[in-house]
Amino acid sequence: MSWSQRIQQALEQRRQNGQYRQRTPCQQADARSLSIAGADYLNFSANDYLGLSHHPRIVNAWQQGAARYGVGAGGSAHITGFRTPQVDLEQQLADWLGYPRALLFISGFAANQAIIAALAGKDDRILADKLSHASLLEAASHSPATLRRFAHNQPQALAARLAGPCSGETLVVTEGVFSMDGDSAPLAALHQLAQQHNAWLLVDDAHGIGVCGEQGRGSCWQQAVKPDLQIITFGKAFGVSGAALLCDDDTAEFMLQFARHLIYSTAIPPAQVCALQEALRCVQQGDELRQRLRQNIARFRAGADGLRWQMMNADSAIQPLLVGEEGAAVELAARLRQQGCWVSAIRPPTVPPGTARLRITLSAAHLPDDIDRLLEVLHATGD
Ligand SMILES: *Cc1c(COP(=O)(O)O)cnc(C)c1O
Repeated sequence: MSWSQRIQQALEQRRQNGQYRQRTPCQQADARSLSIAGADYLNFSANDYLGLSHHPRIVNAWQQGAARYGVGAGGSAHITGFRTPQVDLEQQLADWLGYPRALLFISGFAANQAIIAALAGKDDRILADKLSHASLLEAASHSPATLRRFAHNQPQALAARLAGPCSGETLVVTEGVFSMDGDSAPLAALHQLAQQHNAWLLVDDAHGIGVCGEQGRGSCWQQAVKPDLQIITFGKAFGVSGAALLCDDDTAEFMLQFARHLIYSTAIPPAQVCALQEALRCVQQGDELRQRLRQNIARFRAGADGLRWQMMNADSAIQPLLVGEEGAAVELAARLRQQGCWVSAIRPPTVPPGTARLRITLSAAHLPDDIDRLLEVLHATGD
C-alpha cells in the first residue's frame, strides 16, 4: 500500500467510526465568549479558568518583552536562548512551589515527552492512572520501560501493581485534576504508596495550578504533598502557554543533559516569558478570581442538579455531563450551540467507549447570568 493509500484508508476509517476531527476557525475567543462564522456564543469550552488570556497587564508585559528582547529566543537554551527572563521565572516558580529547581519547557506535551523519555529505561516500569493525559501515556508507551495502568484514582489498584516484581525503578504517574473528568487525585495516598516502594511520583497539575491551593499553588500544595516530579503548564489558568518541571537539583541537571526537547529545540521566547512572569503575579494575587470561579462552579452544580445527564464527582472548573453515546453527545453539543452556548462534546478515543460527554469548563470570567443561561438551555434541551 502506498503512503497515499494508507492515508486515505485511515481517513475513511475515521469517518466511518464517526471520529473525524476538525478544527473550527474562531474570529475571536476569550474565556467568556467566542465568535464563529459571524455568530457569537458564550464560551464553555476554554481552559482559561481565570480569564487571564486577555489580561491587560499580561498582554502589556508580552509587548514590552518583545520590544526589549525581540520575538524569538534565537536558539536552544543550551546555545544562546537562555535569557534573563527565563533565569528569573525559573527561580520564581521554584520559590513559589517550594522546590530547589524549575525548568521551563515549550509546552506541557513536550515536557511530559521529554521527562519520561529521559528517565525511563528498559528494566523500569511506569505505573500510570488509567485516565492520565495522552502526553503522559504516549511517552510511557513509547519508552523502553513497561507501562502498567491502574484504575482511576484508586490507591489500592496502585498498591496491587506496586506489589508485582520490577528489576529497575518505578515511576508512578498521575494528574492533580483530571482533564476529562474534572476530579482530583488522592495525592497523599498515592505518594505514601510510592514512597513505601522507593518509587518516584510524577504529578501533572495542568488543571490544578493557578486554580486551587493557597495563592493558586495547585493540587499538590492543597493536599500537602510534594511529589518528586511536578509538571505545571501555562496554557490553562495562566492563560498563555508553556510548562515547567519542578524537581531537585540533580534531576534538573540530569534533564539539562538528557532531555532532548530542551537541547534540540528553540527555547521559549523571552517575551513570552515576560508575559508568564506577569501571569504568575496575577495568579498569586488572584484570590478574587479564584473565588469568582468557585462561585460559578457552585452555581452551575446547584442548577444542574436534576438534569437527565449524570454529573461527575468534580469540584473543579471542569464540569462534564456524562451522555454515553457518541452521537447523542455530538447532537446535544449542536443543540446547545444553536442556543448560543459553545460546549465541546468529548468522544472516544479521548474518553472510554460509552462515556462520551459534554466537557463544560467554567471560568472566573463568566458572569452569573452566563451560568444561568447555560443551565436554562440545558434544562430546556434535556426535558
Ligand atoms: C493540556 C495538558 C497537557 C499539555 O499541555 P500543553 O502545554 O497544552 O502542551 C499536559 N497534561 C495535561 C494533564 C493537560 O491537561
